[in-house]
Amino acid sequence: MSLDLFLDDKELVARIKDLKKERNAVILAHSYERPEVQDIADYVGDSLELSRLAAKTDADVIVFCSVHFMAETAKILSPQKTVLLPAAEAGCPLADMITPAQLEAEKAKYPKAAVVAYVNCSAEIKSMADICCTSANAVQVVNAMAQDEILFVPDQHLGRWVQTQTDKKIILWAGCCPTHQRMKVSDFVNLKKEHPEAVIVVHPESNEDICNLADAILSTSQMLRYCQASSATKFIIGTEMGMLHRLRTAMPEKTFLQPSKGLICPNMKMTQLEDVYESLKELKHPIEIPELIRMKALKALDGMLAAVPTK
Ligand code: SF4
Repeated sequence: MSLDLFLDDKELVARIKDLKKERNAVILAHSYERPEVQDIADYVGDSLELSRLAAKTDADVIVFCSVHFMAETAKILSPQKTVLLPAAEAGCPLADMITPAQLEAEKAKYPKAAVVAYVNCSAEIKSMADICCTSANAVQVVNAMAQDEILFVPDQHLGRWVQTQTDKKIILWAGCCPTHQRMKVSDFVNLKKEHPEAVIVVHPESNEDICNLADAILSTSQMLRYCQASSATKFIIGTEMGMLHRLRTAMPEKTFLQPSKGLICPNMKMTQLEDVYESLKELKHPIEIPELIRMKALKALDGMLAAVPTK
């Protein structure tokens, strides 16, 4: 292998910056990525925020430091651009919890239901859905549907939370995020005893008993805005630990605590600086989606944007 293997972080960052210019590339990183990867990114955000940025940018190459379905979403929205996933093996167990054949069978059981697919799913699942949603807009999307029955895939916890906010009948799919499942009620209770003034903020992929303890149930982008707008100075954050880095970077004057130590998504932590460098240098690993699937998936994503226009 090349001498590149022996570069230290400082040298790697410098070379990444040079390559970025050379390739006319933009680096995007999800809030759950490693701190050093977030720090070299042009933008840090949630999956859809980043995909929208990817669609708007005039960069030719998008290095999407995240997991496979997120880079796929960027490619669905920007087919003419080269979208790279630096760690090819970074997948999402939640997205893998539903297959096209399973969705086909479930749709046949509920022919009157609209299929609402949380963006954490493959391009193929998106292509079979009536509409997509994010954790930030799931309630609005569901309420915007003409149908009274909604087949909500693949995250049961987000679907269950949506059910508490709507009169529509939500049919749940039994998928879940293994990372959020590892959070324990006792960890929140103990931390709240130590810091009674702290505000508890959790992600809607969390279990019901965790959501019941929360002051606010929010997507990662909403969490950032909520903590910025709040007069509180201490927060207990119930989501993947990478988000703590984003919050602490944005609000160094506030305190962010994590109830369950070492709550990491192993897939989100696969991307290292070396992968970003290799990705830019060798254009690794480009996302490709069959055009028919991409077009149908785009319709489901566009449907969401039309139902819930964003600022
Ligand atoms: Fe998938 Fe959960 Fe990891 Fe997000 S945190 S990529 S939903 S496994």
